Amino acid sequence: PVDRLPEIQAARLKLPVLAEEQVIMEAVRENPCIVLCGETGSGKTTQVPQFLYEAGYASGSGIIGVTEPRRVAAVSMSHRVAKEMNVSTGVVSYQIRYEGNVTKDTKIKFMTDGVLLKEIQKDFLLQKYSVVIIDEAHERSVYTDILIGLLSRIVPLRNKKGLPMKLVIMSATLRVEDFTQNQRLFPNPPLVIKVEARQFPVTIHFNKRTAMEDYTGEAFHKTCKIHRMLPPGGILVFLTGQAEVHTLCRRLRKAFPYRPNRDQQEGEEKDLTVELKKSKKNSKRTVSLPRIDLDNYSVLPVDEGDEDRQAGIDEEEDDDEGLDLDLGEHPEDGEEKADPSIPLYVLPLYSLLDPEQQAKVFCPPPAGTRLCVVSTNVAETSVTIPGVRYVVDCGRVKQRFYDRVTGVSSFKVTWIPQASADQRAGRAGRTEPGHCYRLYSSAVFSDFSLFSEAEITRRPVDDLVLQMKDLNIQKVVNFPFPTPPSSEALLAAEDLLISLGALEPPPRQGRMLELQRARLSCPISPLGRAMAAFPVSPRYAKMLALGQQQDCMAYIIALVAAMTVRELFQDLDRPVAKDEDSEGMKQRRARMTQMKRLWAGQGESLLLGDLMVMLGAVGACEFADGTPQFCEANGLRYKAMVEIRRLRGQLTNAVNAVSPELGVFVDSKMAPPTAAQVQCIRQVVLAGLGDHLARRVQSEEMLDPKWVNGYKTPLLDEPVFIHPSSNLSKTLPQFVVYQEIMETTKMYMRGVCAVEMD
Ligand code: ADP
Ligand code: MG
Repeated sequence: PVDRLPEIQAARLKLPVLAEEQVIMEAVRENPCIVLCGETGSGKTTQVPQFLYEAGYASGSGIIGVTEPRRVAAVSMSHRVAKEMNVSTGVVSYQIRYEGNVTKDTKIKFMTDGVLLKEIQKDFLLQKYSVVIIDEAHERSVYTDILIGLLSRIVPLRNKKGLPMKLVIMSATLRVEDFTQNQRLFPNPPLVIKVEARQFPVTIHFNKRTAMEDYTGEAFHKTCKIHRMLPPGGILVFLTGQAEVHTLCRRLRKAFPYRPNRDQQEGEEKDLTVELKKSKKNSKRTVSLPRIDLDNYSVLPVDEGDEDRQAGIDEEEDDDEGLDLDLGEHPEDGEEKADPSIPLYVLPLYSLLDPEQQAKVFCPPPAGTRLCVVSTNVAETSVTIPGVRYVVDCGRVKQRFYDRVTGVSSFKVTWIPQASADQRAGRAGRTEPGHCYRLYSSAVFSDFSLFSEAEITRRPVDDLVLQMKDLNIQKVVNFPFPTPPSSEALLAAEDLLISLGALEPPPRQGRMLELQRARLSCPISPLGRAMAAFPVSPRYAKMLALGQQQDCMAYIIALVAAMTVRELFQDLDRPVAKDEDSEGMKQRRARMTQMKRLWAGQGESLLLGDLMVMLGAVGACEFADGTPQFCEANGLRYKAMVEIRRLRGQLTNAVNAVSPELGVFVDSKMAPPTAAQVQCIRQVVLAGLGDHLARRVQSEEMLDPKWVNGYKTPLLDEPVFIHPSSNLSKTLPQFVVYQEIMETTKMYMRGVCAVEMD
């Protein structure tokens, strides 16, 4: 019996899935596995777990598990469902990589897909669960795909054992053939249930000309036009990355300032200080009478004399979509005159935004304002924003690309598939008929691919192959993938794992074909088992597996944590505060250089290069209790440091679980490593990154000026470089290893460590 509040009950009744509760529950009762398709916002994620709960699926020994591809969804959906059911978070809980609030009373558990995969390693039959819901299956995230493959075997096994279990796969699109028409995956195709969403017509407006370069500027002008000329209704703008989102938010807030009362404002109106300063300066020349909106009775008076308010810092966090490499920001470009008479309530949205900030998009905008959400593609399917009538779609998405052969990765902005464009347009028709403005022409649209590719076909799979081998899936090629990765990618993964010693090496003799087959079915080695226990990718897992020598484990843990969190350091080319001038940035850069030199240590430590700087930064930051002030003053990203601390804790637990005799702990006052320890750390790092070796280009090879200071790697024809911000860019050692090659303005190695100094 669930005791919901009346307003919650009323809101639920409006959701399309509620009308289908009986159909869905009957299907679950009659079938071991079903696929549920329903538009974003139809209520799948919030309601289906409740249906199952009310039908008693959590009243026996098993509980209801729900997987999400994104951490933020796991956390916020668990909170939402707890609130809807009027129970504590001890009953509807979440578990993500670093944290969770699961208790022994938990009945519904939201988790990331990676968490469930780890649980399968501990208990292949997942006996804790009576139902598993795989949410957002249409996103085709790698772990989701693997889970579906595994569950297609686990569910029949459970039923055979007399411990029945149900599987519900939920998708926001109707494109589920990879799951249903895949004989290897499900010999009996699962039942598909479609929830008809109430969808109002959306008029599509294509641009005559496609905005090629400055689509953020184009989005700005389009949004301004909509806001000025069109009837009420929220605006949702799709851009590709966090920096773009913040740039556009800033410009829109400037153009249509909204001044909340002091006590209401929660940090989203930080641009105003700068704004006010500027308008004072210009006040003699540009006096503009506010346009009066007769329908708007609640425009707040512009409250002057508020200049001492801190110009805020936009949060810069890592995004699932990746680094923002296009830093082009032209805040002064083509600005419109500020028009406070028609305030726009502008909110950013991206995947790693704080849950509280994210929750704001669900609330009605302040009276007298229009809501405008500027989002990355998270608003495409994972988050439903109420009241949107206008969608502005730049037609692009930022994706990480890997070169299958060389492993070079880069973030690229590419066109979205048609299916995504239609999803985005659909966001405008949830509550009433709407409009979608596409910043590209219909001709360009018709060249878009139809659907997006599954992630598994686009990235290296070494971590997956290791996890699967640890589950004793020897021949990964035979695994029932919804969409199999390419055989090249599988081979590359097996080769890497063999070279790391995680798999037993194949026989060296035999015919080509046999050898090839042998390479694809190597069993896991004891080292591989040890590596698989750590929640990091195989290269780093190997470092952890070797880290117990010479009392180095605590350092290796800190280092691996630092290496696997993106972007420790602040971006020195971008102002941290709105009012930071070039002098301020110069000072910050100088300070950073000084700190990096300090952290790089001396003598033996210098050989560790970028890695020693990371280790030094983490040590110094912890020593100072990791305060935001310390990070700010020393060029570190606070969010990254918080993440590193959590990961250190988690890796420490993982190490203790495997080798309790080491008794490692997170020491906030960690002394710098001794020379002998540095040597050991370096060997451990080389053991993990051994295949990422680069050799300085010799003078006789310098045929082209672009090779100056370059390095040669086995797989690339082009030279790669040490980034000028690295301390090693001064010494240019003969041999180095690197974490990864990232293509930005040049091919740069990240996380460089010297093999030998000359
Ligand atoms: P689906 O999973 O089918 O996309 P959801 O179950 O996520 O749908 O959402 C159902 C409804 O609940 C949507 O209208 C959405 O706006 C609303 N909703 C989801 N999360 C929250 C929240 N934290 N606060 C208020 N409303 C929410
Ligand atoms: Mg959902």
